[in-house]
Amino acid sequence: MAQGPTATMGLFDALFRSSEILGIAEETLEFALEASEDAHPNEYMAFLRASEAGDLGLDRDGQVITDVLVIPGTSSNPVSATVRTNMIPNDRTAVGSVHSHPNGVLRPSAEDLSTFTRGDVHIILGAPYGRTDWKAFDEEGQPRELDVLDVELPAGEDFFHFDQSDLDAAVGWDRGEEW
Ligand SMILES: [Zn+2]
Repeated sequence: MAQGPTATMGLFDALFRSSEILGIAEETLEFALEASEDAHPNEYMAFLRASEAGDLGLDRDGQVITDVLVIPGTSSNPVSATVRTNMIPNDRTAVGSVHSHPNGVLRPSAEDLSTFTRGDVHIILGAPYGRTDWKAFDEEGQPRELDVLDVELPAGEDFFHFDQSDLDAAVGWDRGEEW
């Protein structure tokens, strides 16, 4: 039976824009790995936002993931992270999601697959959250390429959205370079 998209799908279509994702900023990936380690053994979950490549000094068309958006109201436990969808801010668009698997398995679960339809890029980070302990998937749950780009994030903008535990985790976090 062919039915049109539900009202819920329409909402998510409005929240997520589609344009080629070239990669993820190195610092953004590092941030998500740190946050996941901090949340362990609970699951960490956030949405991803992107910047135009041209705005980051890249001579390419497309977008680069620069922003990890922690959703207020996200509750997590060792089994799953649940997002209260009414808390998703509607003022900015998201290009996908990132969440951690405390068991280290870098494969989407059946539940993950049902949420991956919203957005183009879905990153799973696995314990022990090292630099290579992650994989990116497309909206169908198939592995996809995602370059890690050494770009300088624009200064003076509120790029990371912290909650208190993130702030605690950020204390002593060595960014390694000026940005
Ligand atoms: Zn998962």
